[in-house]
Amino acid sequence: KPERLPELMGNNEVASLVKSLNRMLARLEAAWETQGRFLADASHELRTPITAILGHINYLLRRTQVSEQQRESLEIIKREAERMQKLVGDLLELSKTGGGWKVELGAVHLQTVLNEIQEEYSKSFEGQIEIEAPEDLWVLGDAERLHQVLANLVSNAIKAHARRVRLVVRDLDERVVLRVEDDGDGIPKEHLPHLFERFYRVDKARDRERGGSGLGLAIVRSIVEAHGGSVWVESEPGRGSVFSVSLRRARAPQTQLA
Ligand code: ADP
Repeated sequence: KPERLPELMGNNEVASLVKSLNRMLARLEAAWETQGRFLADASHELRTPITAILGHINYLLRRTQVSEQQRESLEIIKREAERMQKLVGDLLELSKTGGGWKVELGAVHLQTVLNEIQEEYSKSFEGQIEIEAPEDLWVLGDAERLHQVLANLVSNAIKAHARRVRLVVRDLDERVVLRVEDDGDGIPKEHLPHLFERFYRVDKARDRERGGSGLGLAIVRSIVEAHGGSVWVESEPGRGSVFSVSLRRARAPQTQLA
């Protein structure tokens, strides 16, 4: 027997309430999508002129006739243009994952991604990158995006003067927690709650010099959340930082028998 709704609201009223809620949700979704598309288009459009600017600066720098003073100016313009290039690239990334609709989830072999990162960063980094992970562990994810998450976290650790970066994976049955541990500068407590916000930087002047956009961790968070996971940080100035990412575990894909 159908359940009766409480007296204060008739069936018709409920129906129209649901209808208007749905309409509102659809509008919100559309607005969100428009904003994402705008961000994607704008950053994409900005890439071409920046590339052209950099090309011409490099051309001028290669010429010998420039005076020392002119060279200095050109170097500054170049640095700023590179900063802009990174910022625009980051914005583009953020717009891709902003709504959480661009990740393609599949079974990803974690060790493979970790090895790639280790190899990539060992070239330019004087310190150690160590891996401590179960060999045969798969997570539900988008390999390229997970690579990007790790790249952001590891390059942050390196920028924070780490000598040792450890990539530690813990298998918790349903979930997998991936930790990026460093022994770098650490982060003062008051900054921790804001770290994942867009454009947030701990030391504006210093980070600016290093070419930081303050978007790296916002990108990390939006990618991880698009994976249905979460990311958090523990840190102590002078001792180092630990960034943890939780992901869903996946079953190893069946090997195809010929
Ligand atoms: P950016 O893209 O400028 O590097 P992020 O969003 O990646 O910005 O980082 C935000 C802020 O957090 C930066 O100011 C950076 O100095 C600080 N930070 C991030 N990771 C670490 C770390 N491992 N150790 C110390 N500081 C960090």
